[in-house]
Amino acid sequence: MWPLDGSGEFTVRAYYRKLIKESLVDEDSCIIKEALHVVWNSWMPSKVKIFAWRLLKDRLATRVQLVKRNILEDNNTSHCAFGCLIQEDTNHLFLNCIIAKGVWLKICAWLGITQSGEHQCCNHFLQMVEILKRKCSTRRVGVVWAATCWSIWKHRNDKIFNNGVSDIDEIVHKVKMFSWWWLAIGNKQKVSCNFYEWNHSPLQYM
Ligand SMILES: [Zn+2]
Repeated sequence: MWPLDGSGEFTVRAYYRKLIKESLVDEDSCIIKEALHVVWNSWMPSKVKIFAWRLLKDRLATRVQLVKRNILEDNNTSHCAFGCLIQEDTNHLFLNCIIAKGVWLKICAWLGITQSGEHQCCNHFLQMVEILKRKCSTRRVGVVWAATCWSIWKHRNDKIFNNGVSDIDEIVHKVKMFSWWWLAIGNKQKVSCNFYEWNHSPLQYM
């Protein structure tokens, strides 16, 4: 049943509140709870928090999930949308795919950190928080991590539905744009810099 707000209408905000409530009573492992906690407290739009929540709980409609739910017919249709002939599950799409690896390599270089060897999304996220926590707020790390996954997901959908091309540099540019937008323009200007400054030295403003 879709959650409704006070006026009886479905809103992202009402759905978001429902997910927070669910998370409090869910039987999630400590590690997922810890990751969700950072996501809920990060400065980004509610729809992106919901996306990150679904990703961390392995509830996104990846092709492997669609086969499990009998929406796609068989395993042959569950190959990665980026064309690498490997099953498209959450960890593959966002971390282990050659496209995702290329994106993370550039994002880590941008942040001045070594790329994580983690192959599981939740661990990958928390490791990045741990590496950066002495340099900046965990909420801002949450924003950059979610912006990276969000941009990969948007690009993947564009490839499936609009015949888009796989372009690592384009995804990286979107990560920088989204994270800057959410931190500097939306959400009461949590960072104060222009896009050029953000692109040049993000940690100085995180
Ligand atoms: Zn792939």
